[in-house]
Amino acid sequence: MTFTPHGKHLVAGEWIGTEATFQSEPAHGEAFAFSVGTPALVDAACQAAEEAFWSYGYSSREERAAFLNAIADEIDARGEAVTAIGTSETGLPEGRLIGERGRTVGQLRLFASHILAGDYLDRRHDAALPDRAPLPRPDLRMMQRPIGPVAVFGASNFPLAFSTAGGDTAAALAAGCPVVVKGHSAHPGTGEIIAEAIHAAIEKCGVHKGVFSLIQGGKRDVGTALVQHPLIKAVGFTGSLAGGRALFDLCAQRDEPIPFFGELGSVNPMFMLPNAVANRGAALGQGWAGSLTMGAGQFCTNPGIAVVLEGSEGEAFAEAARDSLSAVGAQVMLTDGIAAAYRSGRDRVAAGTGVQELLTSVCDLRNATPYLYRTTAAQWLADEHLAEEVFGPLGLVVVAKDMDEMMQVARSLKGQLTCTIHMDDSDAEAARALLPVLERKAGRVLANGFPTGVEVSDTMVHGGPYPASTNFGATSVGTLSIRRFLRPVCYQNIPASVLPTDLV
Ligand code: NAP
Repeated sequence: MTFTPHGKHLVAGEWIGTEATFQSEPAHGEAFAFSVGTPALVDAACQAAEEAFWSYGYSSREERAAFLNAIADEIDARGEAVTAIGTSETGLPEGRLIGERGRTVGQLRLFASHILAGDYLDRRHDAALPDRAPLPRPDLRMMQRPIGPVAVFGASNFPLAFSTAGGDTAAALAAGCPVVVKGHSAHPGTGEIIAEAIHAAIEKCGVHKGVFSLIQGGKRDVGTALVQHPLIKAVGFTGSLAGGRALFDLCAQRDEPIPFFGELGSVNPMFMLPNAVANRGAALGQGWAGSLTMGAGQFCTNPGIAVVLEGSEGEAFAEAARDSLSAVGAQVMLTDGIAAAYRSGRDRVAAGTGVQELLTSVCDLRNATPYLYRTTAAQWLADEHLAEEVFGPLGLVVVAKDMDEMMQVARSLKGQLTCTIHMDDSDAEAARALLPVLERKAGRVLANGFPTGVEVSDTMVHGGPYPASTNFGATSVGTLSIRRFLRPVCYQNIPASVLPTDLV
C-alpha cells in the first residue's frame, strides 16, 4: 500500500489547501509539497470543535470508546503505508515505526476500556442531611467533566505515539474533548495519513466532523494562533523547552489563561552507587551506551548524565561506556535542524571549564555520532549549562568525590522526567538517602534499569517539575493523563431526572 500525500489540511471533515506551500524534508525518499497553515484555518477548526463539543462532550462513554477503537482500526488498516511514509520522513527504522504504531493503537484501545470502566469520572456523593443542625446539608454529587476543545502539538521524535493520534489526542477524545492538532513540520505526510484514518473513523461512527482537525504548520503563527484562540480550553504539547516555554507564556497571557500541559526535555541523570559499580561497572557502562544511542539518542528520557564516585571502579565504568559507544556508527537524525542543534549542544558541553573528552567523533549533515565527556561534580555544580539537555547520543560522566558530593548533585537538579539509581543490595543505605531527594525532582524514579522505554499503563507518570514539564501535577502517558482534560463539577440538589446519565 503506497501513500502519496495531497498536502492539505483537514478542517472539520474537509480537506483544504492554501496557495503557499512548504516542502517536507524526508531523510530518504520523495519530498512533497504541503499547504502552509493560516490563522483563518485555525479559527475555522476551533469554531467547528466548539460546535462539536455540544454533541461529543455529552456523548456516552460507549460511543466514545467505539470511536477510539475505530481510529485504532483505521490506523492499523493503513499500517504499511504509515510505516513507509514515517520511515521516509523521520529516518527512523521500520521496526521502530511498527512498534510505535502498536503503542499508538494500544493507547487508543486502552483509553476505550478505561472510560468504559468509569473510574476516571471519580464520582462522589454526599447524601442530603435534611435534619442536620444547625443547617441541613444539601444533596451533593461530583464528577469529572470534559473541558472543551483541546489543542495538540506533537514532537518530532515520536511521529505516531506523541503526535496526530498520540497520547494527548487519545486522552482528550476519551475525555469528550474535540481536538485541533498543529501538524509537525518534521513529519507532515505521517500526520496526513493519520488524520485520514481519524476522518474515516468519524465517518464510520457518525461523530460530529468538528471533533478533529489537523492544521499543518509551515509557519509559526499557526501554533501561536491556536494557543491564543478563545475557544481552546487547554493545550497538550510535547517538544522542546524553548518552544514549550514560548507557547506556555502565550497561554498565561491570554485574557482567559488556560492550562498548558508541556512535556519538555530532560537530562535524566543516573546515580551509580559504589557497590553496583564495583560489582558490574563494565556491564553498566555497556548498558548505558545502548540506552544513550537508541534512536540516535532522540528520546526525552535519554540518560545524558551518569554520576559516579571517584576511583578506578568509576573509571572502568566510563571506559566500558566509551568502548561500546565507539563501536556505534553514524545515525541519521530526525531533521537537519535537530542535527545542527545536536552539534551546538556538543560544542557547549565540550567548551565547559574542566570538561574532558573521553570519546570524540565526527558528525555532519543530518547525522549523529556518539560523544562522551567527563567532568567533576564541582565543575558540574558550577556550570548550569552542563545540566541542559543535549538532544542526541551524548553522555557526560560526572565524578563526585564522595557520597556527600553525589547528594549535592542530586539536590541541585532541576525538574526531570526520570532519575535512575543503579544499586546493589549493599547500596541500600545510600539509595534510601537519595530517594527522597530524587522523588522531589522527577516524575519517575527507577532502579537498575534505563529510563528509555515508557510503559503505557495505569501507574505511569511521564512528567515532572519544570523544566521537565510545565505542569508537575500531570502525566502525558498512561491513563492518568486523561485528568488533564477534565474538571470536577459539583451538582447540588439537581434532581435525578436532570442529572447527567453518568451520575444517576
Ligand atoms: P519543538 O521544536 O519544540 O517542536 C514541537 C512543536 O512545537 C512543533 O509543532 C513546532 O512547530 C512547535 N513550535 C516550537 N516552537 C514554537 C514557537 N516558538 N512558536 C510556535 N510553535 C512552536 O520540539 P521537537 O524538535 O519536535 O522535539 C524534540 C524535543 O521534544 C526534545 O527536547 C525532546 O526531549 C522533547 N520531547 C519531550 C517528550 C516528553 O514527553 N517530555 C517526548 C518527546 C520529545 P514546527 O513544526 O514549526 O517546528
